[in-house]
Amino acid sequence: MTATNPDRAAAPATSSSTPSGASRGFATEQVRRGYTPGTPQNAVATPIYQTTAYEFASLQDAADIFALRKAGNLYSRAANPTQLVFEERVSALEGGTAAVAVASGQAAVAVALLALAKNGEHIVAAQQLYGGTVDLFQETFAEWGIEVDFVDQDDPQAWRAAIRPTTRALFAESVTNPTAQVLDVQLVADIAHAAGVPLVIDNTVATPYLQRPGAHGADIVVHSATKYLGGHGTSMGGVVVDIGSFDFGAEPDRWPQLTRPYARIPGVTLWERFGADGQALAVLIKTKYVHDLGPSLSPFNSFQLLQGLETLDLRMGRHAASALAVARFLDGHPDVAVVHHPGLEGNPWADAARTYLPQGIPAVFSFDVASTGDAAADLARVHRVVDGLSLVKLVANIGDARSLVAHPASMTHSHLSPAQLADAGISPRTVRLSIGLEDPADLIADLDQALRRS
Ligand SMILES: *Cc1c(COP(=O)(O)O)cnc(C)c1O
Repeated sequence: MTATNPDRAAAPATSSSTPSGASRGFATEQVRRGYTPGTPQNAVATPIYQTTAYEFASLQDAADIFALRKAGNLYSRAANPTQLVFEERVSALEGGTAAVAVASGQAAVAVALLALAKNGEHIVAAQQLYGGTVDLFQETFAEWGIEVDFVDQDDPQAWRAAIRPTTRALFAESVTNPTAQVLDVQLVADIAHAAGVPLVIDNTVATPYLQRPGAHGADIVVHSATKYLGGHGTSMGGVVVDIGSFDFGAEPDRWPQLTRPYARIPGVTLWERFGADGQALAVLIKTKYVHDLGPSLSPFNSFQLLQGLETLDLRMGRHAASALAVARFLDGHPDVAVVHHPGLEGNPWADAARTYLPQGIPAVFSFDVASTGDAAADLARVHRVVDGLSLVKLVANIGDARSLVAHPASMTHSHLSPAQLADAGISPRTVRLSIGLEDPADLIADLDQALRRS
């Protein structure tokens, strides 16, 4: 057993749950949560604990930590102390009870869902998902006997109709990439709860500064921390946050992984031992899926992600304002057919954005280049627009300090079938932008020259 101290690793992190965290603001939590200088050096910034293992005070101490009777660091595959600060801080910002940080967003989605659904069980997911998540669901999960049905996320009847007795989770993104569709989180949460299963939300594009899905009924939140949480395009990472709202004890037979004796910690069920603190799922993910599969977050990346978090509200406010300015410029540009940004009047998700994104709209959105009437000529035009940009860089990523462009149909979403692309609202003329922190006037000038020369 290489569990790292679940009491710390998955520490309660609601704003009111510790004296130091009582009703502090978002900006205070993003800078201070989870770290109290306590090393002999009194380092005010969270140190990079670059160590594989931890010295035990005695054999009894080691035995207690291995059995999860006592809190303590054990082995860095499950967690390192820099990562524990990151976990507690993200959990606080999302309003959760526990978090598990891993090596990538892809790993976060995988371990969160593996902890909920096993061979023979089923997941219902939105069809408007990140391409890598679609690959995971329809290939790897399918090979492992976990079936996933995809539905239009705005069709409540489709969600309800897809649910089976074996369904163990509903999954969607709060704001989709690349077309910025805004999910009615509460609607889908109500459908999940009526079926007795949790709603898992990928909140990568919005971040907890623009939306806290847990406040709208989501039970588990996942992130690619590689994107806005880190924010500088330097470090891969992912995190699963348990909001602590889902009662796995209400139908114990449905969740044996939490409600039956857990072989790795003799004599307990995870739900009895950790359920009341909202940490049972996080302990399961750490002590089983991260332990067995090994997608561990390094101390250095944990540090980089913490640095990013400290400016999350400042960056997201700037990203959102600049993206809206760019979207307004593109809207009505003669070389642009449509701009998929829910801050524009007439966008189908403008109302949802007012409800779910009152602080601003994420900076990942897309536009369709005006059609020439011929598919091959349209594609050539898309190539000229993308290749004609100089400040805006052609990159697979999103959520960087730099502004980025991508062509979903031939890049991030190239594994999708034509029908899946259409269902996700992506055309061959769709160009995705991730607006960074540069001066928006410079970005607008760059887009204008590339479009005009196309
Ligand atoms: C990038 C991304 C992921 C995958 O995250 P990685 O850190 O690249 O593994 C998952 N979901 C969304 C919405 C993403 O943008």
